[in-house]
Amino acid sequence: MAIWNLGSINADVVYAVPHIPAPGETISTTGRQMFLGGKGANMSVAAARAAARVHHIGAVGNDGLWAVERLLEYGVDTRNIAVLDTETAQAVIMVDPAGENAILLHPGANAEIPQTTLQNAMAEAQTGDWLVIQNETNLQRTAASLGRKMALRVAYAAAPFDADRVMAVLPYLDFLILNAVEADQLRQATGRTPADLDVADVIVTLGANGADWYGTAGHQHFPAIKVDPVDTTGAGDTFTGYVLAGLDRGMPMAQAIGQAMRAAALMVMRHGTADVIPDLSEVQAFQS
Ligand code: ADP
Repeated sequence: MAIWNLGSINADVVYAVPHIPAPGETISTTGRQMFLGGKGANMSVAAARAAARVHHIGAVGNDGLWAVERLLEYGVDTRNIAVLDTETAQAVIMVDPAGENAILLHPGANAEIPQTTLQNAMAEAQTGDWLVIQNETNLQRTAASLGRKMALRVAYAAAPFDADRVMAVLPYLDFLILNAVEADQLRQATGRTPADLDVADVIVTLGANGADWYGTAGHQHFPAIKVDPVDTTGAGDTFTGYVLAGLDRGMPMAQAIGQAMRAAALMVMRHGTADVIPDLSEVQAFQS
């Protein structure tokens, strides 16, 4: 089968700064690096590294052709990424010597994915394929309802959290994944717990505490693999990409979660995001 991922593509521009600037202050940076980022791109790379057939649906500006090229190099089908007359989304990340950060997120092309791009992609999708959405693009609800109508399996990673957006796509979902903070936000905003959502499979990731799965047969807890983390950025996206790739290959949920936990544990031992997501051979060789 295949995974169709309507998702964000960001240029993560990381500036080293002596301190986070105060209002009105001008400071010089001491370093600059640029990486491929965005939750959508991270998930596409993770699923492709996990050996799934992944089609990314999204948009960049002319300044983002390198990002499309990078996705292609990681094995992602990029034919459904529109190149628009606007800027590629950017995350401007300032990091001080203590590791404290401040982030500016400019949505750019992520918020302007054309409906025709989605429709052209969906014209190729087959019953039983996965359609994945997160909360960093436009067209989420349109995609979710179309996916349900086409009998695709619809998955939503509820990040960054927005109660209205979750509620808007909830009726169409087969799979929902959120972290512990997002699960709390959902509880506060709607009074609903992961166990009483009308979604076949819900996973709540718990960082170093592992993950909970709420399926039709009930609740199951999976402890995390014990490692010494150096950078937890991208752990959730890696986990999501790997779980979906496993399910897409026909794995039972517990096995897909086991594989995703190994991938995410490897990920937290590395600095960086999309560019350092482990591939399947590394995950299989990883002895926990
Ligand atoms: P997010 O990045 O979305 O906040 P989490 O922090 O819950 O997601 O992490 C996702 C998954 O990554 C966890 O379910 C776990 O498998 C793995 N993980 C995260 N942090 C650690 C850690 N410190 N040690 C081992 N595994 C971790």
